[in-house]
Amino acid sequence: MSETAFSSLALKPELLSNLETLGYHEMTPIQQESLPPILLGVDVVGQAKTGSGKTAAFGLGLLNKLRAKRFCIQSLVLCPTRELADQVATELRRLARGIPNVKILTLCGGTPLGPQVGSLEHGAHIVVGTPGRIQDHLSRETLDLSEVNMLVLDEADRMLEMGFQAELDYIVARMPEHRQTLLFSATFPDEIQKVADSFMLRPKMVKAAATK
Ligand code: ADP
Ligand code: MG
Repeated sequence: MSETAFSSLALKPELLSNLETLGYHEMTPIQQESLPPILLGVDVVGQAKTGSGKTAAFGLGLLNKLRAKRFCIQSLVLCPTRELADQVATELRRLARGIPNVKILTLCGGTPLGPQVGSLEHGAHIVVGTPGRIQDHLSRETLDLSEVNMLVLDEADRMLEMGFQAELDYIVARMPEHRQTLLFSATFPDEIQKVADSFMLRPKMVKAAATK
């Protein structure tokens, strides 16, 4: 068995067989670097270019940890834009196919709050959203993050460029301290280091080239 094969990882069998179905056999470099520590429960900062497979890196981490029979929000993924949140949710749904009844909800701005509140009342395991709208739901008390054990900051550099620092602070202050936090970014400016220092516990830094 190759050590770059997904089958070398301690993933749930249903995730591994679904990866086979999807045609994902070999890990990309960022997946090889980040998945072993992610699966150990360590906080990870991952730097890799667009198209390098970062979604599956954190997605397999959060799906492997997920307890589908506990119907509460266990993972929160923050993305800079609605388009990226939709892409992440689509990839997470593909990766989750082997696990029955995993509910993934997107919460982004630019759509009415009412239907989102209705969806939240029906419950979800994973929420993918943009910082402004997540903050909005928290301030209205329509979103409960008290059971979240995995926080993902995807495209963290772009979220900071877009001025979401205050929203991130607000959201993280309302989450359980005992959680795993993953941060992915294409670039690594000083601000990312500050975010890692304030939101993460002794994060492991991993870096990989764009090639698959
Ligand atoms: P990033 O977030 O780094 O920009 P994505 O997570 O969107 O990259 O992945 C880019 C593409 O690569 C997606 O179409 C995804 O389905 C595919 N992909 C990711 N990991 C693998 C893999 N190990 N094997 C084959 N395809 C993969
Ligand atoms: Mg991405």
